[in-house]
Amino acid sequence: MTSPLRETILAALNEVKDPIDGTGIVDKNMVQGIDINGENVTVMIGVDPERGPSLEDLRQSAERAVNSVNGVTTARVALTAERSGAAKSSQSPASQPDSRQSHGHDHAHKPASAGVGTRPAATPGSGQQPLDLGAIRSVVTVASGKGGVGKSTTAVNLALSLARQGLSVGLLDADIYGPSLPRMMGLRTAKPAHSKKKGKITPPSAFGVKIMSIGFMVDEEQPVIWRGPMAMGALEQLLRDTDWGELDVLVVDMPPGTGDIQLSMAQRVPVTGAVIVSTPQDIALLDARKGLNMFRKVNVPIFGLIENMSYYQCPNCGHVDHVFDHGGAHKAADELGVPFLGEIPLDLKIRLGADEGKPIIETDPDGAHSQAYANIARQIAVAIDEQVGPKAKPKKSLFPKISFR
Ligand code: ADP
Repeated sequence: MTSPLRETILAALNEVKDPIDGTGIVDKNMVQGIDINGENVTVMIGVDPERGPSLEDLRQSAERAVNSVNGVTTARVALTAERSGAAKSSQSPASQPDSRQSHGHDHAHKPASAGVGTRPAATPGSGQQPLDLGAIRSVVTVASGKGGVGKSTTAVNLALSLARQGLSVGLLDADIYGPSLPRMMGLRTAKPAHSKKKGKITPPSAFGVKIMSIGFMVDEEQPVIWRGPMAMGALEQLLRDTDWGELDVLVVDMPPGTGDIQLSMAQRVPVTGAVIVSTPQDIALLDARKGLNMFRKVNVPIFGLIENMSYYQCPNCGHVDHVFDHGGAHKAADELGVPFLGEIPLDLKIRLGADEGKPIIETDPDGAHSQAYANIARQIAVAIDEQVGPKAKPKKSLFPKISFR
């Protein structure tokens, strides 16, 4: 059963035609999801990634069409890369059940449960101005030359450490191919809410850190196929449409690798500094070197290298085993003239914490492993201050009526 409002929205959307053949976008099964939350409506339109940048007019027309429907106050329409199988599914949103009765919201289709954004997908490439991030004081990207080295785990634990050190911290999951931060932060079922600020979404928080991830809109198990411009557009939308408020630092968990997408992210986002996570067995750290070079190419300061899964310390006897070749990152950092920030051991507690949504910084803040993260976080905080100037600390004032921020 569908609601009358939903039917009216679908009819309005079908008046918007795909310029290729003049067919209504509902008839073409391009409308992948409609989320009706009170008077706020979010629509997800699936498009071929190659066509993404050329469909901004269509997106705006769709937004106007939904806005014109009686009972709609805010309409947000996002273009998204076709999900595997989803756009070809014979089940159009028109035939999906209206879930308002069961959930209180009208979550017709999971990916549209919150807007990924309202702005055009940007064309990546050089020469573009970095985004204006408003009240975000600094952006630190956590990158790696390849996947599986513990980049996301490191990003989470560093973000929590920075927050424990008194900074206001946001965490952005830019790993749009494998968004794992909702799980790692224990927010699998969380959903961003519409913010009071028009066109913005409020990020969920956990452990004192604000988090935004494409994983809030799509299943972790059902990866989205993002290519080039669409991926970049999704990231920009996540960044700009999130009501981050004032942040001392936004930690960005980058997609693994050093391809075009990573490069354009490093160009479009005003990055204060980058940290590269590597494992010792990452032979001669070739991948990590590529990561360094990428940031150098776009003049992003390198805060340093972190060696993850560096050694194994027996929890019973304390014996330290260098399971893999050890010290490679330190050596590479010296050779490359960048700081070596520290090593994180291979440890079951770190893995379980990450996989169960209870980061070790939270469950064992005074333990040696948390201290290792905290030590790296302190160096990052100092590096941020060096780049953007020290944060004005609240002081006990002689003039109590003046507040310092
Ligand atoms: P990436 O973001 O580089 O793909 P993840 O952070 O997702 O990597 O980590 C990959 C796997 O390795 C996860 O299961 C995670 O729990 C585990 N892991 C990461 N760092 C450590 C560590 N220091 N000790 C033990 N397991 C770790």
